[in-house]
Amino acid sequence: MEKKSLSIEYCEYSNMEELPADDRILLQKAIDATKGSYAPYSRFRVGAAVRMSNGEIIIGANQENAAYPSGLCAERTAMFYAHTIHPEDRMEAIAITSVDPSGNMLPTITYPCGACRQVMAEYENLAGTPVRIIIGSTGAIKVFDGVSSIMPFIFDNLIKK
Ligand SMILES: [Zn+2]
Repeated sequence: MEKKSLSIEYCEYSNMEELPADDRILLQKAIDATKGSYAPYSRFRVGAAVRMSNGEIIIGANQENAAYPSGLCAERTAMFYAHTIHPEDRMEAIAITSVDPSGNMLPTITYPCGACRQVMAEYENLAGTPVRIIIGSTGAIKVFDGVSSIMPFIFDNLIKK
């Protein structure tokens, strides 16, 4: 037996003004995207914004449904649409946040769920370059340089490498 460990690096910013300009713009788009959230059941409004290699920013918001599993997270709503309309472009970055009823970011970070991380990992593999992840709250903004920082062991048996 050999005990092994992983270390994860990320940058933490205390507010949006500290962020590099591209990250700040993307996070603001994620905040704006929450206006399209449909969350009558959880009342938990999440927004995501994906920046593609062509510079375009695609937004998504969580969409709930009375038949619960039929809904979809903000992150996958944005990523699936981004790839649908730009299948030839790479996903460069994604920003994620959740807001209160007034539209202000929550004080605690909303991390992507496991399914969204898996989807991010596959688009990162497709891109061939790391996808930057910006997760915002009023308490802290965390920036990860690639999906492996938040999802180190993905299911990749079927992914062409
Ligand atoms: Zn999710």
